[in-house]
Amino acid sequence: MLMKTMNQDKVRKQLLDTKTELEKRISKIHNHARNPLNADSAEQAAELGNVEVVTALETEAIEELAEIKAALHRLDDGSYGICVTCGEEIGAGRLAVRPESFECVDCADLPPI
Ligand SMILES: [Zn+2]
Repeated sequence: MLMKTMNQDKVRKQLLDTKTELEKRISKIHNHARNPLNADSAEQAAELGNVEVVTALETEAIEELAEIKAALHRLDDGSYGICVTCGEEIGAGRLAVRPESFECVDCADLPPI
């Protein structure tokens, strides 16, 4: 079976940690939008009144969260680590850097890690 050499519990924990982190970030962006006086450096865009940037930050976090959730789902159904586009294994190096990857390096059109 694919991935038997990888520690899936470790991957799962990593994904869950990232998920928690993203959920915190998203709620922080939300809170910040309501109360700009609580600005921190990461969301200074809002301080400048740049609603578009805040929205982009939030959208980015929400999209990343969706990828994390999808990766957790793939861990559960056994398809984790397989490229959704070509069906080949996603390299362990790529998964180590970006555990929520759903495409191999070739399909994602990224330089190899
Ligand atoms: Zn692929």
